[in-house]
Amino acid sequence: MNPQNYNFSKELENLIKSIQAYHPNFRKKEEEELRVVYEFGKKSHQGQKRASGEHFFSHGVEATKILLSILPDLETIYACLLHDVIEQTDVTAEELEEKFGPKVRFLCEGVKKISQVKLLKKHDSSQHFENIQKLFVAVSQDIRVIFVKLADRIHNLRTIQYLPKEKGDRIALESQNIYAPVAAKLGLFRFKNEIEDLCLKQLQPSIFKQLQQEITNLKKEKLESIEKSKQAILDVFAKSKLKIVEIHGRQKNIASVYSKMKQKNLTSVSEIYDLLGFRVIVENNEDCYQALGILHSAWNPIPNRFKDYIAIAKSNGYRSLHTTLLGVGGNEIPTEIQIRTVEMNIDAKFGPASHWAYKKTGHSHFDPDYIKRMSWFPQELMLQEKSSPEKFFEEISTSVFADRIYALTPKGDIENLPLGSTPVDFAYAIHSNVGNNCIGAKVNGVIKPLDYQIKNGEIIEILTKKGRKPNPAWLNFVKSPSARNHIKLEINKDRINQTEAPTEITKSSLLAEARKKRVHGSLHQNQKDHGLNIIIGGERNIPYRLANCCKPRHGQSIVGYKSRGLVFTIHREQCKHLNRLNPARFLEASFFAENVIEIHAFDRIGLSRDYTTIVANHGLNFIREFGLKHYYDKNNRRLVTWKFVVESNSPSELNRLLEALEKINNVFSVKHIKPTSTLTRSKIS
Ligand code: MN
Repeated sequence: MNPQNYNFSKELENLIKSIQAYHPNFRKKEEEELRVVYEFGKKSHQGQKRASGEHFFSHGVEATKILLSILPDLETIYACLLHDVIEQTDVTAEELEEKFGPKVRFLCEGVKKISQVKLLKKHDSSQHFENIQKLFVAVSQDIRVIFVKLADRIHNLRTIQYLPKEKGDRIALESQNIYAPVAAKLGLFRFKNEIEDLCLKQLQPSIFKQLQQEITNLKKEKLESIEKSKQAILDVFAKSKLKIVEIHGRQKNIASVYSKMKQKNLTSVSEIYDLLGFRVIVENNEDCYQALGILHSAWNPIPNRFKDYIAIAKSNGYRSLHTTLLGVGGNEIPTEIQIRTVEMNIDAKFGPASHWAYKKTGHSHFDPDYIKRMSWFPQELMLQEKSSPEKFFEEISTSVFADRIYALTPKGDIENLPLGSTPVDFAYAIHSNVGNNCIGAKVNGVIKPLDYQIKNGEIIEILTKKGRKPNPAWLNFVKSPSARNHIKLEINKDRINQTEAPTEITKSSLLAEARKKRVHGSLHQNQKDHGLNIIIGGERNIPYRLANCCKPRHGQSIVGYKSRGLVFTIHREQCKHLNRLNPARFLEASFFAENVIEIHAFDRIGLSRDYTTIVANHGLNFIREFGLKHYYDKNNRRLVTWKFVVESNSPSELNRLLEALEKINNVFSVKHIKPTSTLTRSKIS
């Protein structure tokens, strides 16, 4: 292909054909949608070139072609086409959402976020690799983000020859230690094999070429005996009544051959038993064992090479029987045979993505049986049969790595900290000097208080000032032992030197200052009229005013700033003025509104239990209830009214609760009554 002449329209038609071939709900409407996404991607990258000289968007298209080999859903396809748009062009995330919906935006932003998870030169332990693999998964929040990132990386590896050698080596090393293992753990064997081979080709080109040549020669040499073996296997099965769907040859990928040779000190590829082997595909589990019995009675198996991955699946969900037989087709080398069902073969070929694209509804949807086999995931998650993929992966990122969190420096360095760690822990994890001189922190670019609890994948920037001392109050919230020890050490040094500790700004001192304001009755802007209030530093009824610069509104993320002599000023988290303020004087703040909710329903047994469960499950703070009232309508049906008050941090949080309440059986209206206005949501209106 002439690199300058990428044939976009032909590629688009091919994409459409490939999707039509497997996706049950790809109709005219979806096709039109895909065309719009495609044109948008092409237009957005107009004028940009890849290192190869091609139009930049050819990368999105090629990555998508790779992605299609695992049968993804449509949102994943769109995200793959557009995955570089936010980072490389003027298009914003908001624009993407407006045009293609929140999911596509979420996935594209996810790809950008996990791109920041990088392998660092200074670490090369397997422990570190494993940490980064975990971080990679944790940051993704959705397995589909990983699919796109892997496809993206495979295309970059396929075109790695256009990059300077050093950069190419760095990418290959990272792919070898992070991307390939993650692909393997997710059961994406095709991706894993190709990544491994492309990395070996980049990092050890002469070994790669030599092995490739040896394997080709060996295959030529063995062609006849391979055919003979296959025929022998077919003959044995023909004599039985067992229905065989298919028998095909398989070949180990070059990188696996290389690692096996290294591991076992082999000098020639011909010494590897399972370099070339066969796969026997049958209809169901029982047939697998029957096929095994037939083979074992025809040829002698090598005793310790039999593996039953059907009874006990591998942790990535892989299932098959493996056995190695002697003398198949008169062959002097042992022959490895894998036996599996059609379904197991689909899993091994396509991995988890196909488990939801195939669903009749066409919606993205995880198959719970599949998830159960993936013992790489934690047990408690496997019980949640109805979990959506989004929810599922959100939960993975919070529970697989439940006791540790992974956060990044702005340069992409990873720190692995105990759960509940704060920016102070993070600062000490970087270096004790950074910890000692820490005066504030930005989390994903936004100033946060020092006792903020870091979440997985957040980017933490520590603000420092030379000559500062750690604050003894930090001991109240730091989680990591090393931070605690360093802080104590510094404090003791000060005691020995008899120096007077400078008056430190602490959360309690800020709140105490503010409480005094309340006692003296000065400026206290309460918003009771709107049923709206603010929690500052975990406390209610702290006097505050809303900043004029950014005018925060209910539902927005906010932060409280306490300047000397004034009440707290509430700013939006994104407010540009925050950069100029003293980070030590910030406290976390959030809006909350008291909402009166009134539900009308036809009475039935268990109704009030359903109400309370739903409110509790939404995690909103239940304040009080006015009790149940029963009455009868003119048809003499027994009706019930229930009124209660909950606190919410944002309108969307409240809306989710209202929607859930509406779905309860027998409920016909859910009213949200604010003190000043009444908003009615009704099923029957
Ligand atoms: Mn890319």
